[in-house]
Amino acid sequence: METRAQRSIINILDDNTANKIAAGEVIERPASVVKELIENSLDAGATEIRIDLIDGGKRLIRVTDNGIGMSREDSVLSLKRHATSKIKSADDLFSIRTLGFRGEALPSIASVSHTEIVTRKSEEDLGTKITCVAGKIEEVTDIGAPPGTSVLVKDLFFNLPARQKFLKTAQTELGHITELVNRFAISHGEVDITLSHNDRVIFRSPSSNLLTDAVLTVFGRDAAEAVVEINSQAGPYKIYGVISKPSYSKANRSGQLFFVNRRFVRNRNLIHALDEAYRGILPQGRFPLLICFIDVPPEFVDVNVHPTKIEVKFAREWEVHNIVISCIRDALSSSNIIPNAEDLLPSALNIRRPTFTPTYQKKLSRSTTDELEEFRMSLASKLEQQKKELFVPQITQEGFTEEKETAAKIDPLESAEVLAQARNLYIIAQSPAGILLIDQHVAHERILYDQLSNMYSKVHAQRLIVPLTLNLGHREALVIEHKLDDFRALGFEIESFGKDSFIVRSIPVIIVDKNYERVLKDMIEELTELTITRRLLVRREALITTSACKMAIKAGDKLSHEEMARLISDLKHTSNPYLCPHGRPIVVCLSNHDLDKMFGR
Ligand code: ADP
Ligand code: MG
Repeated sequence: METRAQRSIINILDDNTANKIAAGEVIERPASVVKELIENSLDAGATEIRIDLIDGGKRLIRVTDNGIGMSREDSVLSLKRHATSKIKSADDLFSIRTLGFRGEALPSIASVSHTEIVTRKSEEDLGTKITCVAGKIEEVTDIGAPPGTSVLVKDLFFNLPARQKFLKTAQTELGHITELVNRFAISHGEVDITLSHNDRVIFRSPSSNLLTDAVLTVFGRDAAEAVVEINSQAGPYKIYGVISKPSYSKANRSGQLFFVNRRFVRNRNLIHALDEAYRGILPQGRFPLLICFIDVPPEFVDVNVHPTKIEVKFAREWEVHNIVISCIRDALSSSNIIPNAEDLLPSALNIRRPTFTPTYQKKLSRSTTDELEEFRMSLASKLEQQKKELFVPQITQEGFTEEKETAAKIDPLESAEVLAQARNLYIIAQSPAGILLIDQHVAHERILYDQLSNMYSKVHAQRLIVPLTLNLGHREALVIEHKLDDFRALGFEIESFGKDSFIVRSIPVIIVDKNYERVLKDMIEELTELTITRRLLVRREALITTSACKMAIKAGDKLSHEEMARLISDLKHTSNPYLCPHGRPIVVCLSNHDLDKMFGR
């Protein structure tokens, strides 16, 4: 008979097995190896990093840096599990300033590949070379080497055939790596990063440290020209980066990158904040580009919630969420995104203006492609021009000339004064910034949209003395049947009245004087259209947008001077006076400067 002790079924795993298990979490594919190695290089203070790949990294990955290097002793230790120079005790977990700290990456990678490390500290004459197979160190020798570290990883998962089989084609694996390297180029503009595949250089980070240059390299020219800066400091949080103006959008979220203390992260609250900030600005299914850096003292964020450190948790999630929203909204409603007359009519008014102001730290220059250089030159000249424009004298309302610090800072709607209505469609106004053309329909649409979404449950309704009967088509009936509560919140009290018929008992006060039956029918028609094309029930958001549009003043409505003045003053207080909920411009500003230039003054 076995004794109790002999029947023990729990084993302590040997180090090699433990490493393989850790590798399962941290190392999923070649891109994971590249990520860990680049992070180590950055932590080692490298200013140049080169990544060489063969067959999408499946055959070979080499990451070479000019960082601080390792002593012979440290390089041997670096392959041991939980060996790290970055933290000493658990307390340090709350003050992490490096990208790595778990001491798992090198041993994990080594346990599932043929690894070779060549490293030298600049103050030492000789470097060290370590070769390692499946986590076992085979040889440690002295070697002549440049200062820094080079880690070579061959035949990833050679000893885990099941894993190896799950790897995708070289092209797909390369795609993952490229995306990753792009992100590092964005987050670490001060470091030169070069990526080669099968002996051909396929990516080189821009030589400047301008974020807009990184955007240009990674997302292309249209994106680079469409971005504006975000920048704000709130309590311990510093938020900066770029967002795209509503004129630019993508069909997916691939252009939305958040970095916390310069570490790329995924965080649902941050994505939610972004969506909130853009609500009513981009059409459904379109996504803005956003590169958002959040710098925060390490004790405000936990980076140790996921083995690959891609998820983070803020100590005060909702605080960050709200700060991000207001930072993006500020940038969006700033005058930077008001369309200029010449942006809309480039041939008639041939004056170029700067569209954004890149500011970022400087870095060492390095030769780069012609296209980049050309774009940088044009940026520089735009900046020059902008500097000049900053000191263009502005005629103030009082009628005397004054130097404004920045022309861009004047809100064109500030002190706007109605002049006339053109074609029962545009309000013509003047303000210290210049001549304004305001589309009356979209302006009112924006006002209503804000009212409806802010005061969703408090919309004033008026009971109809004679209730209205609606006889709808079956599909239309189905749509509003599901939305009776939402309609009620908007001020429409509607009751079902037998097959496909409804009774309307009250309507929102704003449309009392209008042909409200027409307004309501148009809304229902459009919502039904939406459900057909989208194959789903309309969202509350769509309902608000549609009602704002249908209830708004139409193009062709004659407005009195007072009505126009009222519209402008209401517009000024909306969340975004310059863009309608569908993303169309509301105000076009012909600046004094441009106007004078056109007349050669
Ligand atoms: P971690 O990065 O979490 O500390 P790693 O396993 O990635 O753990 O690396 C272990 C240690 O090896 C690091 O703490 C660092 O001291 C050293 N190291 C790794 N890569 C480099 C490098 N490229 N340059 C200098 N030191 C390095
Ligand atoms: Mg590391």
